[in-house]
Amino acid sequence: MKACVLPARAPVESKPLVYSDVPLPEIKPDEVLVRVRYCGVCRTDLHVVEGELPVLKSPVIPGHQVIGIIEKNGSQARRFRAGTRVGIPWLHSTDGTCEYCRSGLENLCDAATFTGHTVDGGYAEYVAAPEAFVYRIPDGFGDLHAAPLLCAGIIGFRCLRVSGIAPEGTLGLYGFGAAAHVAIQVAKYWNVKVFAMTRDPTHQALALELGAAWAGDGESTPPEKMNAAIIFAPAGELVPVALRNLKKGGTVVLGGIHMSPIPAMSYDDLLYYERVIRSVANNTRKDGEDFLALAARIPIVTQVQRFPLERANEALNALKNDAIRGAAVLEVG
Ligand SMILES: [Zn+2]
Ligand SMILES: [Zn+2]
Repeated sequence: MKACVLPARAPVESKPLVYSDVPLPEIKPDEVLVRVRYCGVCRTDLHVVEGELPVLKSPVIPGHQVIGIIEKNGSQARRFRAGTRVGIPWLHSTDGTCEYCRSGLENLCDAATFTGHTVDGGYAEYVAAPEAFVYRIPDGFGDLHAAPLLCAGIIGFRCLRVSGIAPEGTLGLYGFGAAAHVAIQVAKYWNVKVFAMTRDPTHQALALELGAAWAGDGESTPPEKMNAAIIFAPAGELVPVALRNLKKGGTVVLGGIHMSPIPAMSYDDLLYYERVIRSVANNTRKDGEDFLALAARIPIVTQVQRFPLERANEALNALKNDAIRGAAVLEVG
């Protein structure tokens, strides 16, 4: 099969992904083999490619927002018929037995594995995944537009959940890429007022088009104090900025897997009065199921920029340079 393989971590400007022929993935008894149609491009892929995350497999095929078709079931896989459309997310497997798995926090599993990081992912014509970690995709979504729901959508939804935002509340979104452009649609559906803070004028325009009450650059002060803020940009310097614009008791959620260092800041001015800073790590399968059902009900409309599989380096480069409006998606088959 054709795939974009990462032989060694390097800056995306040096085109580290190599489009090449590789063997088909072998499937374990509980796994399905999925023929990939589209694979969304996530900022986490950029962190994998550039080596900001620990190397768990090398060479590795990145990609964890797969929309495809069940090609083949493993000997014990019974959940889907061949030909069923499914989605494959970031969370590839958990042990099901650790204290986190047993308490509804499988996203924190001690032995979790991740698609396109611990195991090969979807920048390829075929990918293998345990049937229990694969989603059925609601009918209302076309394949192309469903791809960004698998991580940008689900992680954004978990960020919203843990932010404690309630109807009539005010929410700040820092960074307006793939995740924020979905999260704002959920927030609007919940009757939340949204402010978007992003340096890119195209992203500000998209935020306003999607219903933001106000948009400005990252350092700017929104017109009102906010109940919660989600930082999707991997920039630690935004943490004190977001806290400064937060109401008492408000929460700042950090939505990325990697962030530059957070500067020293004043406890008295920024954190006191029960303000909370928390991260989001991965997602549970329930987050995914709940989000996909909600996405179909709203319905979420994603904006995508399409690249052929062999131009994955170019897609990652555009993502790094804020040049994607909405989400980048690789067209595979
Ligand atoms: Zn576990
Ligand atoms: Zn992702």
